[in-house]
Amino acid sequence: MASLTVERLREDLEPFQRELMEEFYQNYAGLKDDIATVRIYEKYAHLFSEDAVALTRASAEAGRGTEDGRWLRYLREFATFGYVDSAVKQLSDGANTFETQSVIDCDGEKIPYRYIATKIRNEPSHEKRKKLFEGKLLETQKLNAILLERMGTAHDIAPVLGFKNYRDMCSSLKGIDYIAFEDQIEEMLRRTEMLYLDSMDDLLQKRAETSLSEAWSYDIPYAFRGEEFDGIFAKDKLVDAFFKTLDGMGLEPRRSKNIKIDMEERPKKSPRAFCAPVSVPQDVRLVIMPSGGWRDYDAFFHEGGHAWHFGHTKKEHPAEFRYLGDNSVTESFAFLFNYLPSNRHWLSKVLGMSDADEYIRFTLVNKLMFLRRYAAKLIYEMKLHNARVSSEFGEIYRSCLQKALKFRHTELHYLEDVDDAFYCAGYLRAWILEGQTRGALEEEFGEDWFQEEKAGKYLKELWSYGQKYTADELVKTIGYADLDIEPMLGEIERGLRE
Ligand SMILES: [Zn+2]
Repeated sequence: MASLTVERLREDLEPFQRELMEEFYQNYAGLKDDIATVRIYEKYAHLFSEDAVALTRASAEAGRGTEDGRWLRYLREFATFGYVDSAVKQLSDGANTFETQSVIDCDGEKIPYRYIATKIRNEPSHEKRKKLFEGKLLETQKLNAILLERMGTAHDIAPVLGFKNYRDMCSSLKGIDYIAFEDQIEEMLRRTEMLYLDSMDDLLQKRAETSLSEAWSYDIPYAFRGEEFDGIFAKDKLVDAFFKTLDGMGLEPRRSKNIKIDMEERPKKSPRAFCAPVSVPQDVRLVIMPSGGWRDYDAFFHEGGHAWHFGHTKKEHPAEFRYLGDNSVTESFAFLFNYLPSNRHWLSKVLGMSDADEYIRFTLVNKLMFLRRYAAKLIYEMKLHNARVSSEFGEIYRSCLQKALKFRHTELHYLEDVDDAFYCAGYLRAWILEGQTRGALEEEFGEDWFQEEKAGKYLKELWSYGQKYTADELVKTIGYADLDIEPMLGEIERGLRE
């Protein structure tokens, strides 16, 4: 493929993203039964070819430190991870097919593999949850054979591409020092240890009739069901609450022609809200089928955050800044909206909740648990991706998760619980950036910032960059020296010590 040039790659990046997103949208919105991504990947195979990897590497290295170096680095990351994805494509499809087709037999009841989590979350009996969980693990063992081969293949590619190992590949391509980041995260774990022990144990005693040391991972989603809050988070008020929030910031959701909200009920529509940035910023779709409850509000606001970010990205930016870059940035804007339905002022002004103490405590314990969970995942993956995967990592996974979370885990989730390319670190960085962005908004516009048009203008400016800047750079533009866990932890500590 002598004709492959950086220009060709850049030209095809956007049509590829557009076709892929359209396909995902059609399937998850329930408009189409199958997902035909293979055809799209084949059509654009040159974007992830060996030549593309070598070409973008040479160009990114030559362009380092120049104006073009920024998009060249994002393009290189895209081509290289795309190359790894293509190498494991069949195994990924195999794992996916297994998950969609596998059925668990529990006391004669046949439960689809992907439905088991929902089933466990809603099951009041600890014994029944245990049974469902153990039934699932029998299938997980089979799935693990595929996932082990898949991760082994990905691990083996890294040295072939000239990196020390998978961890070094992620670190180099993304420009993130994971070792320094892990130090920050360990500090977070130490600082919140006692607070977590007390508040989580208390919550489990009240909501799942178990103690933290006795609890199993399958008791946790049940403990956080929070069905007594369902009345407040009503299904038919969700979209109104979202629009009211955006109107407060002058963001005119009804006039945003480029962001379409798909609320239509379809039998095969995904029950989880999602955002499909089909063409950034001209065609962004926010899809929901409201069912009510706090999870629904959090999920819809989260996806809404992505939609408003992509929908306000400057169209003049090269495709690399509109589709690629540091995903912690878009995740931080998603979290910013995600946490509005657990903000005291928002709850009172938008939903008319007068005494929110109990609910806010509930959400903060949940958030702290998630932060510690992702911290544990990062610590585990730092070891996993610095070596070559083997079944011995099951025990390492179990001990890392258990050390941070204190409730019991199975070693069998050591592959299923891993997202590619350190996405766990991406979320942690997004949580930190969100804490700082919200801190800046509160300082500039007060605690009711979500009702200030000026806050909307401020956000529009940040959104306009797309993902041109990394989280570390963006945080400097809002007045901080670096990514800092302080605002995020301060909120949790104040809230849970009261
Ligand atoms: Zn997200």
